[in-house]
Amino acid sequence: MDAPYSKLEQLEPGIARVLARNPSAFTYYGTQSYLIGMEEVAVIDPGPDLPAHIDALNEAIAGRPVAAIMCTHTHRDHSPAARPLAERTRAPIIGCVPLALETVGPRADASFDGDYVADRVLEDGGSMAVDGELVTAVATPGHTSNHLCFAYRGALFSGDHVMGWSTTVVVPPDGDMAAYIASLEKLRQRDDRIYYPAHGPAVTNPQQYVRHLVGHRMQREKQILGLVGQREREIPDIVANAYPALDPRLTIAAGGSVLAHLLDLERRGLVERRGEAWKAA
Ligand SMILES: [Zn+2]
Repeated sequence: MDAPYSKLEQLEPGIARVLARNPSAFTYYGTQSYLIGMEEVAVIDPGPDLPAHIDALNEAIAGRPVAAIMCTHTHRDHSPAARPLAERTRAPIIGCVPLALETVGPRADASFDGDYVADRVLEDGGSMAVDGELVTAVATPGHTSNHLCFAYRGALFSGDHVMGWSTTVVVPPDGDMAAYIASLEKLRQRDDRIYYPAHGPAVTNPQQYVRHLVGHRMQREKQILGLVGQREREIPDIVANAYPALDPRLTIAAGGSVLAHLLDLERRGLVERRGEAWKAA
């Protein structure tokens, strides 16, 4: 794939990006790690533990002091490089709370990085200085329960909460649709001028884009409610009807998203579960 792997891309003064070579159906061209600051820097979403990527980040840091290595959440494509990079740069890991789901059982999810440890956790609104400017955590649960966005000089590093190339995967047990939509609404109350997501291009019209994302989820919810209103249906049946022409690699994720909607609707008393099937209440 022709993408700027391991290259330092300067996006604006004090904000640069390095793309990791971990392309997939879920990561687009790969994870984008960001460097913020000039005299002093911080790294946002160091990415997967790939030696070439860590070398590229180290080269981009170019010997400058590193105030923090910050993770938006602990999916395996975001946080595993934090530890090796922290060891190389002697920087603290500051950001989201550690979260490791079980490897088996009802809360199993192999996409989490169970080795992540933070030196300091930022709560919603918590901040720290990087190169004389504040980086502020904006808690945005939904994609994962520990997801943070980071605001810096009018830009918002949106992780996987808002992405420039695709809608966000919201899959139970940790993904929560109601929390996700509430976190989108939270961003609508803000006036960030640009979003830099972990995957895909920057979002230069944040307000309009977030409104569109909320509308898309409302549309999907209505569609699912319509389908289970016709008759009792199981999730694969709902996916087949709601996502025609779906990339087969995304069938499981789409099923997870449908389940996230159904659990939210169930909580609101709008649908009922009957074994594997769902029906409008
Ligand atoms: Zn993620």
